[in-house]
Amino acid sequence: MNGGADGGADESPETVIELTEVNRIFASDPPVHALRGVHLTVRRGEHLSIVGASGSGKSTLLNTLGLLDRPTSGSYRLDGVETTGLGDSYRTSLRGSRIGFVFQSFHLLPYRTVEENVMLAEMYGKPSPARGRGGRRARAMEALERVGVGHRRGFRPDRLSGGERQRVAIARALISDPALLLCDEPTGNLDSENTHSILELFDELCGQGMTLVVITHDEVVSRRASRRVRITDGQLSEVAA
Ligand code: ADP
Ligand code: MG
Repeated sequence: MNGGADGGADESPETVIELTEVNRIFASDPPVHALRGVHLTVRRGEHLSIVGASGSGKSTLLNTLGLLDRPTSGSYRLDGVETTGLGDSYRTSLRGSRIGFVFQSFHLLPYRTVEENVMLAEMYGKPSPARGRGGRRARAMEALERVGVGHRRGFRPDRLSGGERQRVAIARALISDPALLLCDEPTGNLDSENTHSILELFDELCGQGMTLVVITHDEVVSRRASRRVRITDGQLSEVAA
């Protein structure tokens, strides 16, 4: 089950995330042991929610999964690739091609249209030669259609509802066709109606094979996940359904 007995070498392409005995110790004074012996396997199409009190290690875990931070010890396999020993430039390109980020604040540029906001993500993100500039507008439109806001492409963000803004931010994260979407309090700025609309979108994306990891304080949001884990003082535990 879940690797382990066979030495943890789970080569299944269906496994997107595999953390094995991950520790993160910040070398502050005093040192902070922010992740303690974390094991986590997430499969393609899974929707995992992470809950935990402030200071419990949620951001450290998300930064680790997003290749923005490196474990002090342990293993992190992303799509079968062991990432902990990779150099920074390889980690950066892996992040750009495999991972999308969604935050509580939408971080949309106010004087750009919805379509431009999504296209600009690729300009910052250095597209691979195979996906040149030519198709950028088409890819932006495809991502906007996928999240149901194609009809808003010419709008500025301030004319959109909160839920639509978050959909645009999600489209921006999807333009690179990532395997994994990491969301930090994605509904933190939304009322219940807009939250509901984003949760519907999450269901659709998982149905299409996207893998979602969502940090949330909202019980309604966390219950919508197919699986829930809690982090307490850097230690992970499964929450019963
Ligand atoms: P959460 O996101 O759940 O609020 P964090 O992952 O941000 O928690 O932090 C977990 C613990 O690690 C906290 O005690 C925090 O103070 C500490 N921490 C986070 N980042 C650093 C850092 N760069 N240096 C030292 N301690 C840190
Ligand atoms: Mg945090």
